[in-house]
Amino acid sequence: MPKIAPSVAGQSLIKEINTGGSLTMSTDGDRWAAGYDACVNRGTVDRDHVGSGCCERCLPTWRKKLQAEGWDPTAVGAVSRAPMAWLLRAHEDAPPAILLLHKNEVLRQIGRRLSRLQHEERLRTGPVTQQDLEKELNRVWAMIRPRPTHRVVSPFAGAATRIGAPFSLRQMNAVAALLIDLAAHVPWRFDIRTWGEVVERPAGEERLRRARQCR
Ligand SMILES: [Zn+2]
Repeated sequence: MPKIAPSVAGQSLIKEINTGGSLTMSTDGDRWAAGYDACVNRGTVDRDHVGSGCCERCLPTWRKKLQAEGWDPTAVGAVSRAPMAWLLRAHEDAPPAILLLHKNEVLRQIGRRLSRLQHEERLRTGPVTQQDLEKELNRVWAMIRPRPTHRVVSPFAGAATRIGAPFSLRQMNAVAALLIDLAAHVPWRFDIRTWGEVVERPAGEERLRRARQCR
């Protein structure tokens, strides 16, 4: 039976998972892992399996998704067990309706992150268009923008043709792959801004409504 040699990143992740419990390693013959032919999110076998049918790139987000899906906002003590519970610190008495908004927003953002990982896979394997390359340049530029005084608009914004035209398809693929690898070093951040729009604002309205009822 083939033994999988996890990457260094994979090993530290495996330690993390081991402390949490279930860990399945590749054991059955030619398959990628026991019960899985490829990463359940990206559908590829380029990285080792580390748990729950995922590679090390997708697993942390995939586990967040499973946790969020399994969370019941109507249960007693739901706030303390919430996914991304730190966001609800100021909402400990939030009604289930608000907690449901929280759940939906968490799942939406996790879904976007998982889609992004799938998209990266398509960029890596498929032909990269000029627009794809521009988007990746903008994305990396936004990540490295060092100071608030730095220009707000990416120097690559709207420059797809200008950027792509002198490049061959292979060159564009190579640059896009490099940008994806660069961006992979930047940890995914939950977007508090959109969360606030979805949860904080209605929560505020809910408090106002209750305050009015108390009068
Ligand atoms: Zn994956």
